[in-house]
Amino acid sequence: MTLDLPTISVVTFSATTIVGLVLCFVWWQERSSPLIGWWGVAQLVMASGIGFAAAASLSNSPQLVAFGQALMILSAAIMWMAVREFNGRSLNPLLVAVWPSGFVIASAFGVAQSLNGRLILSSTLLAALFLMTAFEFARAHSERLASRWPASLLLALIGAGYLTWMPLALTMPIKDVSHVYGSHWFPVVIVIAFLGRVALAFVILAMVKERQEMRQRLFALTDPLTGLPNRRALFEAADLVVLQDRVRKEDPLSVMLFDLDHFKKINDTYGHRFGDRVLQLFSQTLVDELDPDCTMGRLGGEEFAAIMPGTGLSVAAAKAECVRAAFAHAASFIDGMPVGGTVSIGVAAHDNIACDIGALFHRADGALYAAKQAGRNRVQVIGPQEGLQHEEREIDSVWYGERGPLLPAQRLSRRYRGTGADAA
Ligand code: GH3
Ligand code: MG
Ligand code: MG
Repeated sequence: MTLDLPTISVVTFSATTIVGLVLCFVWWQERSSPLIGWWGVAQLVMASGIGFAAAASLSNSPQLVAFGQALMILSAAIMWMAVREFNGRSLNPLLVAVWPSGFVIASAFGVAQSLNGRLILSSTLLAALFLMTAFEFARAHSERLASRWPASLLLALIGAGYLTWMPLALTMPIKDVSHVYGSHWFPVVIVIAFLGRVALAFVILAMVKERQEMRQRLFALTDPLTGLPNRRALFEAADLVVLQDRVRKEDPLSVMLFDLDHFKKINDTYGHRFGDRVLQLFSQTLVDELDPDCTMGRLGGEEFAAIMPGTGLSVAAAKAECVRAAFAHAASFIDGMPVGGTVSIGVAAHDNIACDIGALFHRADGALYAAKQAGRNRVQVIGPQEGLQHEEREIDSVWYGERGPLLPAQRLSRRYRGTGADAA
């Protein structure tokens, strides 16, 4: 197979232009992700670089080749800057300008005067930029986007490809512009880099979509006031625990339910906004006192829950006591005001898979009811073998509101609602 460079130039120029235009169009339609827009612009700049370089070889003009190379370097610098911005850094046009300017200055003043020298310099700068962009994608691994890895890999491959230019240009130097077309290796490198860029454009689109979906999902599963998982997220976590239970049958599992005491009174005395702050204080107490691997969340109002896989009853009870004591301490005085906030906690556990998690929530709810009845500001525990003390009341329709009737965690009951505890 022979690779005819004029044809390759026309194909890569047209295809890169089309990719750039499509990306710009996608960005223009949504305008939600600057990464797509910048990537599109970078492709258009790359296409013009290819165009200038190709035209230069026809007109045998080394200056035009250098200009084309500077545009390609500018394109790679734009991609690098766009990924930095995607990772939350601020845009700095100077960082972009410095690369092509450096190349132009070096070309004009001696460092890389020959065509071969400029080829080595431009490919080194391109390699550096592509490798740095690959690193930018990889370094933000805390944001779990699956497409970061293919993007990083493709960029690293393109960067490594440009690195091979140097030994090739040293061992098989290209003497003049017309000789570029006669070189054996030059077209191969160009085609590989082009294919990598086209694949990258698809990965970039996928990544932006992935981030949008992840953020929407996070939004739908997070309680805006406290930042904790909301009720839906807790149900999903409960489902997951049920699934995992099939694998780890022998592990214990605990559930805690929390209900702030006399919260209505706090609202009435200090105002609703102050009540919100107390809720935030309690959620912070949960985060501080419970292990990070347990799932905690806000069920609604002043009610919270924690699902603790791998934790038996006695450990769960001790942790619940820590939460109770820490909150009583933190909410005793807030901003010098004698708030006296406390929490009642119901804890339930089971030691084998035979008990489903819905039943476990149900039992923890019973224990919470008992804690309220016993005077509040306390932890009430219910063991795996203990029976519930209270008859089940009407299940609150709230628990059925958002999901179908099949999921186990929805069998939560609110048995202490509407009792003397509410009126207190
Ligand atoms: P008990 O000790 O029996 O639990 O009494 P309580 O007052 O805590 O319980 P009750 O169910 O009577 O009142 C809960 C209150 O929580 C009523 C509601 O106005 C308040 N609440 C629910 N959601 C929010 C919220 O997001 N912010 C604030 N500030 N208050 C809320
Ligand atoms: Mg309540
Ligand atoms: Mg309450």
